[in-house]
Amino acid sequence: IYILAIESSCDDTSAAVLCNNKKLSNIVATQKIHEEYGGVVPELASRAHQQNIVPVVHQALAKANIDKKQLSAIAFTRGPGLMGSLLVGTSFAKSLSLGLNISLIEVNHMQAHILAHFIEEENSKIPAFPFLAMTISGGHTQIVLVKDYFKMEILGQTLDDAVGEAFDKSAKILGLPYPGGPLIDKYAQLGNPKAFPFPKPKVDGLDFSFSGLKTSILYFTQKHTKENPNFLEDNRDDICASIQYTIIDILMSKIKKAVKQTGVKRVAIGGGVSANSGIRKALFEAEKKHGWETFIPKFEYCTDNAAMIGIVGYLKYKDANFSDQSITAKARYVINE
Ligand code: ATP
Ligand code: FE
Repeated sequence: IYILAIESSCDDTSAAVLCNNKKLSNIVATQKIHEEYGGVVPELASRAHQQNIVPVVHQALAKANIDKKQLSAIAFTRGPGLMGSLLVGTSFAKSLSLGLNISLIEVNHMQAHILAHFIEEENSKIPAFPFLAMTISGGHTQIVLVKDYFKMEILGQTLDDAVGEAFDKSAKILGLPYPGGPLIDKYAQLGNPKAFPFPKPKVDGLDFSFSGLKTSILYFTQKHTKENPNFLEDNRDDICASIQYTIIDILMSKIKKAVKQTGVKRVAIGGGVSANSGIRKALFEAEKKHGWETFIPKFEYCTDNAAMIGIVGYLKYKDANFSDQSITAKARYVINE
């Protein structure tokens, strides 16, 4: 079974081709235009998707060495995401399915961040059910109990900012360009994580909160730059290491709590922040210390990509779970809907 998958929920235009559960190609066009604005500008994202989508699909087919006539189905991100961005992928997928007379499969982007673990790769580890998934991305922070491919229960989530947002907004305060998450990670590796203690939020149960951290970083920065205008330049690595340490500590304490509460010791992460070196190291250590089995995606499958949409497409194809031409994009689309 050959699946062409399309992802266009935010600011990356991506297309992939899968043969069953294996990836043949996974092309991502990252939109540079947003850097100068310090965040994603929806209207510009939508326009860039329109420019990118045809070349990206051509590249994905060429790299996979597959002709579009060989395709069995086309899978696309229906939501959640930016409406204007989602519309580009949705209309493209619907038209192509009509033109080629092949099946159409809608995919929930957050399910895809989790189910990316089922892409078969050399040396890949595939989680058994049930497992806990922590989705840590630009728009979400959730702890999900995954009972089966499409049986997911949200155990906790952020009450305000997502963890990726916490990284990006902190980076912005430090004067780093968008998206700042990867840069904080890079500098954090050169600094002392205990240099500046930031307060951790007190949130009940398995929910998260990151907006207080952002505020305390803002006050901290204002206070110190008043005393020393070069404070940020002089202490960049230590500040980044301290911010990252605090965020990872928050994530790890919640996932530990979830393991305790459910008795499930299989822990997977998904979404852009799973590329972070701090969380990867913390999970690796927890595996040794607490006997967990942990699942960390390949870097290629952390941030937005179409291969993760393709694997969900394949799983739904096997169930003959298809969509028809009446399907529409859905900006708000919960994982267990
Ligand atoms: P969602 O999946 O919730 O709809 P999104 O698709 O915009 O949101 P992703 O592409 O999954 O988000 O993740 C992007 C986020 O990941 C950004 O906030 C980015 O800063 C963050 N990120 C990427 N790499 C790293 C890293 N190494 N360390 C920290 N954050 C990172
Ligand atoms: Fe995402």
